[in-house]
Amino acid sequence: MRGFLWLALLSILVIQCDLLQAKEQVAANRPNIIFVFADDHATHAIGAYGSRINQTPNIDRLAREGMLFRNCFVTNSICAPSRAVVLTGKHSHLNGVLTNGDRFDPEQQTFVHLLRKAGYQTAVIGKWHLQSDPVMFDYWRVLIGQGPYYNPRFRTPEGIVTVEGYTTDVITDLVLDWLENTRDRSKPFFLAYQHKAPHREWLPGPHQLQLYREEMIPEPTTLFDDYKGRTTAATKTTMTIANHFSDLDLKFTLPKNLTDVQREMIEEAYREENEAFRRAALQGEDLVRWKYQRYIKDYLRCVAGIDQNLGRVLEYLDKSGLVQNTVVIYSSDQGFFLGDHGWYDKRWMYEESLRMPLIVRWPGVVKPGSVNWDLVQNLDFAPTFLDIAGVEIPSDMQGRSLLPLLRGERPHDWRQSIYYRYYEYPAVHDVQRHEGVRTARYKLIHYYLIDEWELFDLEKDPDELRSVYEDPQYAEVKSQLMAELNRLKTLFGVDQGREPPIPK
Ligand code: CA
Repeated sequence: MRGFLWLALLSILVIQCDLLQAKEQVAANRPNIIFVFADDHATHAIGAYGSRINQTPNIDRLAREGMLFRNCFVTNSICAPSRAVVLTGKHSHLNGVLTNGDRFDPEQQTFVHLLRKAGYQTAVIGKWHLQSDPVMFDYWRVLIGQGPYYNPRFRTPEGIVTVEGYTTDVITDLVLDWLENTRDRSKPFFLAYQHKAPHREWLPGPHQLQLYREEMIPEPTTLFDDYKGRTTAATKTTMTIANHFSDLDLKFTLPKNLTDVQREMIEEAYREENEAFRRAALQGEDLVRWKYQRYIKDYLRCVAGIDQNLGRVLEYLDKSGLVQNTVVIYSSDQGFFLGDHGWYDKRWMYEESLRMPLIVRWPGVVKPGSVNWDLVQNLDFAPTFLDIAGVEIPSDMQGRSLLPLLRGERPHDWRQSIYYRYYEYPAVHDVQRHEGVRTARYKLIHYYLIDEWELFDLEKDPDELRSVYEDPQYAEVKSQLMAELNRLKTLFGVDQGREPPIPK
């Protein structure tokens, strides 16, 4: 009898061990996720999106081996708000970060909390740019605020750590070190690899300083936009190539935190051009053209730094064998004006600023070289990360998982329009608060503090130079878009949300 009991107990133990092993097996098979997130990297500076101005071989490799989303849009085109949307899957008025000045409440639900609860190891390395620490991650090393281009200081759970070097390289070194030496290999991981670059003031790294020295970068067709055909909002903005660069932006001065060697190296790289510029005493359009070249070359050098460093990470994934079970995603917190409309910066619902890069490589699931044209948003990232990990998506997230699209299936009820809202006014660059709706073909924008409207037919006017809001031919389209805007506002609970104090 006693022997029988022992036998029974033993078999229970064996069964439990098997179950445990099976569970570990399932855990081990869950894909890792590396989320590469640049800052202000516009799609028109990515080879795979058809850039006319640069090459990005490593980002392009991801597109060749994965899926490129042609219509990914931000909900609120500015740094901190975009990041808060990515974390929560909720619009700004619900996650509390409407402007760069708002603090992110790290106690609120994020996909990171949920992944962690499901047994994922989570890490964030690089730019964070939210006014609270990323305490929901298991591991974090994040820049303080915007962070500098050289010799970055990182906030960590152990205090502040300074690393000498070029920030894009330093962040990548930390990423490779975490992958190889620090992570818990028994768990699947989510790693946010987040760059400062190519954010203003566009200071290139040592390996990119000499790029484009002998070439002229093509100008955008709207570099000399006169802003006719739109509301007054566009004329009042202070982000023009012509008038609103600082000496730091133009490299006439350099940041204070450089070492002597770094300062000398950078000054040397610009010396000849700066001397030629002083001799030439340019004016008018010639001066704008010169500033555009200085700006865009530095921007593209910063992009090249990201691309070359991404190459190091992709190579590591190949060599370590992680490549097979790791989803790699490339994106940026919003788009950017690359001289388009005579501007730099973002904030607007106009295409260059609204559109985000989104490229996803997932061996065995995503068909290599595929392209998706559906309307997707940063609002969808959190539910997508959860879905990839097999974690249930909370019903209060407002985005939708991209997993079916990644598998090449299009749900019949996929969204036909997106909602946009920008709140940061009055503020730097003087971009009016606005909200709007974009469909595959049209875009309606309301500058609600001044009650001015714009309507663009993107098929006929892809550069958004002529609003047809007053055009009677578009009366029907206009009323449909008005109704759609109201429907989306109700759907997302916009009027129940917060609005920063309205200026008098
Ligand atoms: Ca940004």
